[in-house]
Amino acid sequence: MPLHPGRPGPDERPARRDASAVNPFYGPADPVAGMRVEPSRHRLPDDPMSPRVAARLVHDELMLDGNARLNLATFVTTWMEPEADWIMAACRDKNIVDKDEYPRTAELERRCVAMLADLWNAPDPAAAVGCSTTGSSEACMLAGMALKRRWARRAGDRYPASARPNLVMGANVQVCWEKFCNFWEVEPRQVPLEGERFHIDPQAAADLCDENTIGVVTVLGSTFDGSYEPVAEVCRALDALLERTGTDVPVHVDAASGGMVAPFLDADLVWDFRLPRVASVNTSGHKYGLVYPGVGWALWRSADALPEELVFRVNYLGGDMPTFALNFSRPGAQVAAQYYTFLRLGRSGFRAVQQSARDVARTLAERVEATGDFRMLTRGEQLPVFAFTTAPHITAYDVFDVSRRMRERGWLVPAYTLPPHREDLAVLRVVCRNGFTADLGELFEEDLRALLPELRAQQGPLQRPVSVATAFHH
Ligand SMILES: *Cc1c(COP(=O)(O)O)cnc(C)c1O
Repeated sequence: MPLHPGRPGPDERPARRDASAVNPFYGPADPVAGMRVEPSRHRLPDDPMSPRVAARLVHDELMLDGNARLNLATFVTTWMEPEADWIMAACRDKNIVDKDEYPRTAELERRCVAMLADLWNAPDPAAAVGCSTTGSSEACMLAGMALKRRWARRAGDRYPASARPNLVMGANVQVCWEKFCNFWEVEPRQVPLEGERFHIDPQAAADLCDENTIGVVTVLGSTFDGSYEPVAEVCRALDALLERTGTDVPVHVDAASGGMVAPFLDADLVWDFRLPRVASVNTSGHKYGLVYPGVGWALWRSADALPEELVFRVNYLGGDMPTFALNFSRPGAQVAAQYYTFLRLGRSGFRAVQQSARDVARTLAERVEATGDFRMLTRGEQLPVFAFTTAPHITAYDVFDVSRRMRERGWLVPAYTLPPHREDLAVLRVVCRNGFTADLGELFEEDLRALLPELRAQQGPLQRPVSVATAFHH
């Protein structure tokens, strides 16, 4: 059984159409098996059908998916240049793990790591180590494992029998950190939100640390509201902890989004390897790295930060290649596309792209606020993202109503409640990405404004959908 519930399967549907119901102009009769045959849905069909017909059936079904460009819920890239399509198509058959057979792809991965190490101010970029992954989730698993192994070494004999490792983070972390703690049996210690603080508090984080803390995770660009966590202040609080107690806790920066925004727009913000306590950093190449989904990056400031025994060497593809990854085989196309993007844009190109995303976010946040119906939590000043809720005087409708009604117009704007202790607060979030232009932003505002009279005329908020919390996640 698949993990997600689906619509009723074919068995529960009315009897299938027969061949005569199929329009021969759209689906020509085919010598093998044309549109005369209904597609099999849940059972591998007995016989082949022609590629043209199979492709049309699959393509038509997928038309009912949403329009990715109008999806303001996701951080993930939904637009690339045609040249990127060309590069990716040319690499479709390359398996990134096959570094011996595809040495140039391997070289492009190395160059991307070097560029990121330099961009994130590694003290010695040549000494930094890193790898590509399928996304930030995998990168976070790898970084978390490195933290855990380093702690185990420090803990020596006490591990694993008597000590349980823990990881300190804000309650606003992305779900991947809860996965990490669950899968690798690490106790998550979360700093709750408080009042109008929607992410980690440095002192509270330090207070949760003890000798079994494998690290503190800070998020550059909170998923919930787009705010940057105060990485440098967290490091300072941990410096004080070291002085006070002798406990030395490393920091990992989950820069899934911010790692490709802050270096270009907030050059003075010190959040990266300039902070000696920052052991590792991850980013999603497929978010503000501007590549289609399936690429992330994990970097360690030096080989010391990545225990050598976690790196596997395999020789059965030829050569002797180190790998650190959860998967073995993986497409090489995304890595080539990342290198293309780096080459194509350079620093000033990235600055221009991210600045325009931030400008769109700021302008749109201002306009949403100007309706008078909403209270802003953030205004697109850090990540090009803003979160907002209904103003205190709005009682006729809530954020879930807004989300549902905007969906009728094709816009996907998630509404969700915040983590502990602000579960009482439900917000909407708009992620402005490359391709969400000022023009589209204006259309969004017009659609929102057009809805308000109807929403204000409601008797009260309509019932919430059951699974509100699953409406977002990226
Ligand atoms: C998106 C995100 C992740 C997960 O990244 P994927 O690339 O989707 O696996 C982790 N952390 C943060 C802060 C994120 O925004």
